[in-house]
Amino acid sequence: MSDHNARVSDVISGRALDAAATQIFANIADGVVLTDENRRIIFTNEATDQMFGYGEAELVGQSTSTLYANSDEFAVQGAKRFNPTASDDHQTYVTRYRRKDGTVFDGETTGGPIHEPGTGRVLYLGIVRDVTTRLSAETVLNQLHRVTSDRSLEFDARRTEILRLGCRHFGLPIGIVSHIDGDRYEVLEAIHPEDAIPPGATFELGETYCCHTLAADQPIGFHHAGRSEIRDHPCYKGFQLESYLGSPITVDGELYGTLNFSSPAPTRPFNRQDLELIGLFAQWLGHELAREADLQALQAAQLLLRRAATTDELTGLANRRLLGDRLQAERQRMNRYGGSFAVALVDFDHFKKLNDQYGHATGDAALVEFAGIAKKLLRAVDTAGRWGGEEFLILLPNTTMEGALTIAQRLADRIGEATLETDGGESVALSVSIGVTISSGEEAIETVIARADEALYTAKSDGRGCVRWLGGNPSVPLGTLRTTAG
Ligand code: GH3
Ligand code: MG
Ligand code: MG
Repeated sequence: MSDHNARVSDVISGRALDAAATQIFANIADGVVLTDENRRIIFTNEATDQMFGYGEAELVGQSTSTLYANSDEFAVQGAKRFNPTASDDHQTYVTRYRRKDGTVFDGETTGGPIHEPGTGRVLYLGIVRDVTTRLSAETVLNQLHRVTSDRSLEFDARRTEILRLGCRHFGLPIGIVSHIDGDRYEVLEAIHPEDAIPPGATFELGETYCCHTLAADQPIGFHHAGRSEIRDHPCYKGFQLESYLGSPITVDGELYGTLNFSSPAPTRPFNRQDLELIGLFAQWLGHELAREADLQALQAAQLLLRRAATTDELTGLANRRLLGDRLQAERQRMNRYGGSFAVALVDFDHFKKLNDQYGHATGDAALVEFAGIAKKLLRAVDTAGRWGGEEFLILLPNTTMEGALTIAQRLADRIGEATLETDGGESVALSVSIGVTISSGEEAIETVIARADEALYTAKSDGRGCVRWLGGNPSVPLGTLRTTAG
């Protein structure tokens, strides 16, 4: 026995100690069991009787083997500590016990021999605490950790696991994650034995138990609603759910919705641990939802960046970089599948003069006008882009020279028909020159573009406002389609 304990008997008389022990045994929540040297019970306190489900003094005279869930364990503990030679420094251990009704529970136990001073008589003392809920909380926390740290699961899959875990742990068959917006309660995901609650189902918040959770602003539970203060509430009358455990979910400090579990049957009373656990589940969901939102914002920003990196700011058409990529991709596609593609280079006529006469803003407006016309005219598979300054490139996949020339001429005509209003209220006529070529052989993109440029140069020198072409095969002579100006 330690010095500390020895001092107790120095300062307190045997009688006072007896009185103290009686008081303690009567009032502590732990079960106290005293046996004789044969492990026959000579005393149990009220907590023991309740824990094991026996009537008062009903255990007295019985062997402690009745208390164990299996008889091997009775023998093991006897060899370890409930024998006269075992240490009287009592150790704490967890073992499984059996109640009178046959159900079992885990008991944290401190026990061992007590040697009566003077007589040499041996008694055994055991102090038992039911730790079933603590152990199951530890188990569920471990499972929660496993689910939440499993990076191989997507958010949705982890949310489902959390719902399953909650249903199992709380013993409630229905689990719901809801999103709440004003009075609208929307089911995001639900677990239900008959799959009776589809995602997207909506309810009026006031008709659900969750309105109580929101009012409390913290986890709450009803284990037998029909006997509680909410029995007159529409949610009880409407759904006949006897038990409910719910927690608000907040995302970045704002109410998002609820996590809740329920059952049409009443259940055991919820304890503080249940409330803390569901609070923890909800907190984790809130963090994950915030992370998801951040991720979506990031993806949107990336999309914007990507678009900015490939789009011409003024016209919204493809920029030179994207045109380069599309040209290379088209080249590869053609190498694999054959066919031909056409390239048209478009350059505004006398653009310097337009700028000088009406201002740079009018010049810009002309470029935007062109973009609008090109977008309307072209197919979805075509790409029109800004090649530089007031020059545009149009890529027409799977197109013959005849087809390309038709489109180019139509484009030149539309531009010619368009009029631009200046800030001063004047109408300005626009005109473009276009050089067209096609590629059907294995040649470098630069070669194709140089040929289109040469055709464009011809269009300029032929008087502008017209379309000129140079064949895919350099041996084909320069051709003219139709001269629209000059
Ligand atoms: P040409 O008919 O021979 O093509 O004559 P041009 O005046 O159009 O000559 P060029 O193509 O060499 O001139 C291009 C001019 O376009 C030069 C520049 O001032 C103007 N420019 C280039 N980019 C922009 C732009 O983004 N906005 C405006 N307003 N003007 C531009
Ligand atoms: Mg020009
Ligand atoms: Mg130019």
